[in-house]
Amino acid sequence: MNCIHPSPDEPGFAQAEMLFIDPVACVDCGACVSACPVGAIAPDSRLTLEQQPFIALNALFYEPVHASRPAGEKLPPTSKLAPVIPAPEVHADHGGPLMVAIVGSGPAAMYAADELLTQQGVRVNVFEKLPAPYGLVRAGVAPDHQTTKRVTRLFDRIARRREFRFFLNVEVGKHLSHDDLLAHHHAVIYASGAPNDRRLDIDGMDLPGTGTATEMVAWINGHPDFTDLPVDLSHERVIVIGNGNVALDVARVLCADPGELAHTDIADHALTALRASLVREVVIAARRGPAHSAFTLPELIGLTNSAEVVLAAADRDAVHNDLATVSDSLTRQKLEVLSALGDAAAPATSPRPRIRLAYNLTPKRILGEQRATGMLFDVTGTDEVQQLDAGLVLTSIGYHGKAIKDLPFDEDAGVVPNNGGRVVDADSGRPVPGAYVAGWIKRGPTGFIGTNKSCAAQTVQRLVDDFNAGALAAPTAKSSALDKFVRSRQPDLVDADGWRAIDAAEVARGAVDDRPRSKFTSIADMLDVAAAAPAPSLRHRLVDRLRELADLA
Ligand code: NAP
Repeated sequence: MNCIHPSPDEPGFAQAEMLFIDPVACVDCGACVSACPVGAIAPDSRLTLEQQPFIALNALFYEPVHASRPAGEKLPPTSKLAPVIPAPEVHADHGGPLMVAIVGSGPAAMYAADELLTQQGVRVNVFEKLPAPYGLVRAGVAPDHQTTKRVTRLFDRIARRREFRFFLNVEVGKHLSHDDLLAHHHAVIYASGAPNDRRLDIDGMDLPGTGTATEMVAWINGHPDFTDLPVDLSHERVIVIGNGNVALDVARVLCADPGELAHTDIADHALTALRASLVREVVIAARRGPAHSAFTLPELIGLTNSAEVVLAAADRDAVHNDLATVSDSLTRQKLEVLSALGDAAAPATSPRPRIRLAYNLTPKRILGEQRATGMLFDVTGTDEVQQLDAGLVLTSIGYHGKAIKDLPFDEDAGVVPNNGGRVVDADSGRPVPGAYVAGWIKRGPTGFIGTNKSCAAQTVQRLVDDFNAGALAAPTAKSSALDKFVRSRQPDLVDADGWRAIDAAEVARGAVDDRPRSKFTSIADMLDVAAAAPAPSLRHRLVDRLRELADLA
């Protein structure tokens, strides 16, 4: 009904912190409420008390538009993303149906698969390093955001399609090369994300008691590579440097009631550590002022609803100063929320630890000899310094992409140079045949899960254009030989049946304690469960046989 804005083709879409429903265009059909995979849309009449501020925010988005529009006038028509339609008649000329390998299985990968599979005959093989798919949705979204994780139901549906195959526990760059993939596919889409942390280059960052918020999130979420992360919560204060949404996620979980977290998919080791935590305050320290806060408005509202959030007097003054000068309406909304926060000097109102948002603190160095005991900051724009005691200092200053073997890489930006997803040589600008990118490795570590949908669609459009133009070399190996080939390189390959067995076992373990799932945190355990999975389903064997016949034909 063209009532949700900004849409992918409108300005500001990629930057939008939330989407807004036009009350004039909306016909209350409720389709968006049931379709939204993360349950983010609710009828205005059924909002909880905590959700009520969104009514005013939504209205604010349309007010200027409506004010300048005569009553009854329709919104200007918006052009949709051009449909991606590979011409079936070119299949025969270009080596059969389009075969695409996708590296990674997070949101960008799954949305790319979804987009490709809207076309008849296209085959998609997804290669993932871990035995469990879905990338940051599984290992990055905070456990108290279970509705966000519901997007995996959509991903499950995509993965169940006949022309989709999972090759899990297979690392491209180790078990398989780019050329191996190209021998079996027309193209490879890398959707491998931005797995590294941006590092803060100050003294003391190597001391015990320092770390990064992204590692901490992976630890909380039971990522197998981070189960042994030393997280010491036997002290009163944690400092988080940077105030993006990741910083808010970590602070929220550190201050949450473990009794409530116990009903999420949080890793057992994290729950045990949080139950024993002595932390009383988490300080989120930003180097700039309140108007430049990196967190988004919905996440700020979510934070204030779930924890006691306070400001020191100097920061409250900074909020008021910014309110007097800032005109941008979204920033003003954030500042309004900040101005209503409690006073850090007042006694705590909750038995749970509280969160202090601190501003204008530029990190100078970590204090401590044997381990971190605190942090020294420059007060931004002055000669003053400020010292804060803490037993744990976490940097949360963004992610950074990792170079992909055999592809060009822009080290500064942490992305693979590309033109709308088509990988290009950085110097000549010429496309690297058969190589594409989607998600954070394409555009850098910004945006939400949904941002990856239009990002992936753009990449798929480029890829299909190239296929239809005959610019992609046909695979030299038979598609029916792929499974055997991959197993020769990685005998511990986990397929869709293996993943379904892991998934079912996790859900069953969780059900005992009224949890959505209890995750395996060791790869060996996952492989044991996958190995015990029933033999490949009849459906899979049938699909394999059909592929062999198609190859012969
Ligand atoms: P981010 O939003 O880019 O925030 C990075 C923060 O680090 C900013 O406050 C930045 O301050 C600060 N920073 C950077 N360099 C610094 C330095 N040298 N010293 C001190 N501070 C420094 O990154 P993020 O929190 O990792 O989030 C990544 C993306 O994921 C974002 O788009 C975010 O919205 C998204 N995300 C969304 C959700 C959600 O929707 N629930 C959850 C998690 C993440 P300056 O602004 O001053 O540079």
